[in-house]
Amino acid sequence: IPIERYRNFCIVAHIDHGKSTLSDRLLEFTGTISANGSNKQILDKLDVERERGITVKAQTCTMIYNHKGEDYLLHLVDTPGHVDFRAEVTRSYASCGGALLLVDASQGIQAQTVSNFHLAFAQDLALIPVVNKIDMPSADVPRVLEQMETSFELNPADAVLVSAKTGKNVPSILPAVIEQIPAPQGDTSKPLRMMLVDSWYDNFRGVILLVRVFDGQVKAGDSLVSLGTGNRYTVGEVGIQYPGPVPQSVLRAGQVGYMFFNPGMKRIQDAKLGDTFTTVSAENLVEPYPGFEEPKPMVFVGAFPVDQSDYGRLADSISQLTLNDRSVTLQKDFSEALGSGWRLGFLGSLHCSVFQDRLRQEHGGSVIITDPTVPTRVVWADGTETIYQNPAEFPTTDDHRMRGAAVYEPFVKATITMPEEYLGRVIELCESIRGEQKSLEFFHTTQVILQYDIPASQLVDDLFGKLKGATKGYATLDYEDAEWRRSDLTKLQLLVNKVPVDAICRVIHTSQAERLGRQWVTKFKEHVDRQMFEVVIQAAAGKKIVARETLKPFRKDVLAKLHASDITRRRKLLEKQKAGRKRLRAVGNVTIDQSAFQSFLAK
Ligand code: GDP
Ligand code: MG
Repeated sequence: IPIERYRNFCIVAHIDHGKSTLSDRLLEFTGTISANGSNKQILDKLDVERERGITVKAQTCTMIYNHKGEDYLLHLVDTPGHVDFRAEVTRSYASCGGALLLVDASQGIQAQTVSNFHLAFAQDLALIPVVNKIDMPSADVPRVLEQMETSFELNPADAVLVSAKTGKNVPSILPAVIEQIPAPQGDTSKPLRMMLVDSWYDNFRGVILLVRVFDGQVKAGDSLVSLGTGNRYTVGEVGIQYPGPVPQSVLRAGQVGYMFFNPGMKRIQDAKLGDTFTTVSAENLVEPYPGFEEPKPMVFVGAFPVDQSDYGRLADSISQLTLNDRSVTLQKDFSEALGSGWRLGFLGSLHCSVFQDRLRQEHGGSVIITDPTVPTRVVWADGTETIYQNPAEFPTTDDHRMRGAAVYEPFVKATITMPEEYLGRVIELCESIRGEQKSLEFFHTTQVILQYDIPASQLVDDLFGKLKGATKGYATLDYEDAEWRRSDLTKLQLLVNKVPVDAICRVIHTSQAERLGRQWVTKFKEHVDRQMFEVVIQAAAGKKIVARETLKPFRKDVLAKLHASDITRRRKLLEKQKAGRKRLRAVGNVTIDQSAFQSFLAK
């Protein structure tokens, strides 16, 4: 099949609008998968993606479709639906000529439709409006068409109205793809120029690369060089996903396919997404792609084994999980309260919670994960700066280095959509979390798009849940990194008998210190057992104590009575203590059961 009859496209949609269902339908319709339903949602490969119904990594599937008597080679590139994976989305778009802009007929345009539209538009993709779920009683097709026209200037006459569920009208999508999306440009006779779109780890083959060939061609046995790393490789196999890997003799300009090397690429870190590859002989002839910004971690958590003897086991599974996800950053961490563990960095809060889920699935109650935090930046009096990823390391306000220093916190640009009736409540919520309104737009008489700059720390603090709560679940949220802003931040610490518990501390806005401090001491008190002496639990912002609780000591006679009256109970208690001994942690002169931290840190 010649390059004029290739089409590379993706589906741009808000989560749950039916991207996976429509992909399955297209694959069935072209005979790529069977229609008996045995391999549903073929593109959502990772288990966690299936479970949560989200796509984390870009995938691709090739289809062959006969249009007016000629075979076309169509590559459907599935993109992650969530903003945390913006870099992946951008790269997938770069490998496509166009996209289906899919909108749920009963929901209309939502936050991720808006932000993904802007990304796709910036990449110059040809867009085909597709309205899905027209079978639903609540479908309002004219409203959605009007929204698409006013917000995106898409012509309602070009729209394809489908039901991915029943299959209605799905066959008219592919002719539209062929007629409206341009064929890829590329010259097979030129030296190889190929971009790395995605990669994943395979135990037998090493790193597998998903590539888009822009010029030239590539086959098994070719010697390649990465212009990003300078590393050289010999190609072991090339092929297309159809829908599983199907080896090919050659990948040509215009195609999207997979390859692995022989010997295999060992480290996923060597597969730099956006990197350019060419043949060794053309190393100096080919211009590298500008590449893509390395994603920066935005959300950090600490992970610690409840029992230090589990350290090795936890280390293994964390490295297994990071093997396939280079965007997780990993550092060893030590906490006096929790022992040895790690500090993990993620692209955003969903990314973080996906990882937490996987870790919990494997380790259940034997891992402690601290509250997610965002980084803070300090510009010192001498002009140098430090970015703190771990709040425990952030200097307190009375630290002498803080004299003349400026403190910054990250803000994000949030896009929120909601029905108009909730506008008042959403604005109230955004203002209460120090948001700054940027724009307000009605894109249909009853729907509103609101843009706010919001502290990233609020996003991590379940802004999404709060928004849903304020709008009966109708609000949608999307966001992108914005900037560092100067801010009045302070380090809030929990003290037990005057000694800071290093695992429980956060850098927060000064205005929140008292409220959060109060919450902490009340909650922590519930989880600490009484001791033989008085325990004072305090929350401190710098030198200032903002909240305090006291735990009264046991009275001697209570203990005596217990001991005398119930021998078996006492024996049980002793046995339990013995089993729990290694889990006890000393904070100052107070011994605290590890499970106290666990219950405190659990939401
Ligand atoms: P994705 O998040 O965009 O991949 O959305 P999915 O394909 O997972 O679909 C989300 C939900 O909408 C699923 O429960 C689907 O069964 C349902 N769905 C998808 N397309 C249709 C449709 O055309 N009609 C109806 N009634 N439901 C649909
Ligand atoms: Mg999906």
